[in-house]
Amino acid sequence: MGVVIIGAGQAGVQAADSLRSGGYEGAVTVVAGEAGLPYQRPPLSKDWLMPDSPEPALLPLRPAEFFDRENVTLLHAAAEAIDRSARTVQLGDGRELPYEHLVLATGSRPRPLPAPGADLPGILQLRTAADAAALRAGLGTARSVVVVGAGFIGLEVAAAARAHGCKVTVLEFAPRPMARALTPRMGQWFAQAHADLGIDLRLGEGINAFTAGPDGRVAAAVSTSGAEYPADLVVVGVGVLPNQELAEAAGLETGNGIVVDAGLRTADPRIFAVGDAAAFPGGPDGALVRLESVPNAVDQGRHVAAAILGSGEPYRSLPWFWSTQGPYRLQMAGLALPDDETVLLGRPEDGAFAVLCFRGGVLAAVETVNLPSEHLGARKLLEAGAQVTPADAAAAEFSLRGAAKAARRARA
Ligand SMILES: Cc1cc2nc3c(=O)[nH]c(=O)nc-3n(C[C@H](O)[C@H](O)[C@H](O)COP(=O)(O)OP(=O)(O)OC[C@H]3O[C@@H](n4cnc5c(N)ncnc54)[C@H](O)[C@@H]3O)c2cc1C
Repeated sequence: MGVVIIGAGQAGVQAADSLRSGGYEGAVTVVAGEAGLPYQRPPLSKDWLMPDSPEPALLPLRPAEFFDRENVTLLHAAAEAIDRSARTVQLGDGRELPYEHLVLATGSRPRPLPAPGADLPGILQLRTAADAAALRAGLGTARSVVVVGAGFIGLEVAAAARAHGCKVTVLEFAPRPMARALTPRMGQWFAQAHADLGIDLRLGEGINAFTAGPDGRVAAAVSTSGAEYPADLVVVGVGVLPNQELAEAAGLETGNGIVVDAGLRTADPRIFAVGDAAAFPGGPDGALVRLESVPNAVDQGRHVAAAILGSGEPYRSLPWFWSTQGPYRLQMAGLALPDDETVLLGRPEDGAFAVLCFRGGVLAAVETVNLPSEHLGARKLLEAGAQVTPADAAAAEFSLRGAAKAARRARA
């Protein structure tokens, strides 16, 4: 019977790989709803869209040989239902897959924008390779681009559109970009950085409607302030929705994601959920959170494989994330909260600095711009639970990398 994994994305493929590397000998089947070899999504909003990048190729999550060598069956089909009492998954092509353990790694999809005209030709969203190919082609000819949503993907696309020489307007309902994930300090810095790249960032403005030109394609976005922004290409990046309907129909608990416990198990002990689709108790005080990042998907894929192999450990992993927006590499370690005390490291005006977030007087999260080694230092410190205080961070000679080294020496 073995393990059936629904979803051949970052989390699902990692779970299959970790099952085999952990010594699992039963059948492993990954149900892939997308055609071709499973691929990495991050380049789709970065290198793929840049004007000077060569004809892009998809970066596979694993080479084709992996599936043969590891005896992992990659089944191209859509999973349509789960029968928990019979322990089977029904596929769209009529097949039925029995399972001993089931991993729901169904990911997420772009949140639709409920505005009149949102389905006009020329309005795109970005999740899949096909979406990225359409967007790349669109950027090749577009002159005026409107991006709806100043989240990570929206701003990565906006920076790429600017690099194509397009006039770019970003409409964002919130008062700062990336407001859900970043400290106000970092969000405000990015607002200015994008303005300096020549992007017209309109904060506090949402979308009322899109209007079409005589050719039937989108011609303008009308914002909540009534202003009309001409556009021959619109990219909507207003977040994602977890793919949780299969779980819901199978009677499993869902909310903002498929609800799992500290071991990433649903209330059905044979069924796990991982990656973008899973809501797990990893927030402050055990609150349910759903994280949308490669490291989260990979770590959770590894964890469920270990759980299936018999580990009873709870899932514990430091959240971290990156985003590349024009010349800026943003990296985050830990989850920043609105009430965190913040300390700056370095000079924002140099375009390379960090915001350190303290909770209860100790380091809880770090945001860096163009400081990759400080980001690594932050991860090491946070993973080790090192007690760095605001007073430590304010010292003239302080660096996260140096503190991580000192903490390692102290533990040795
Ligand atoms: C353009 C873009 C850029 C990104 N950039 C970054 C970045 O810079 N850094 C970062 O950390 N993260 C980034 N992310 C987020 C990251 O890619 C996701 O968090 C990660 O891919 C989640 O992995 P997953 O396996 O949970 O879901 P996914 O990768 O979405 O995989 C889920 C798979 O399940 C399939 N599926 C769903 N339902 C079914 C079904 N019923 N039957 C069969 N198959 C099904 C889907 O088709 C999909 O292929 C980016 C995402 C996008 C879209």
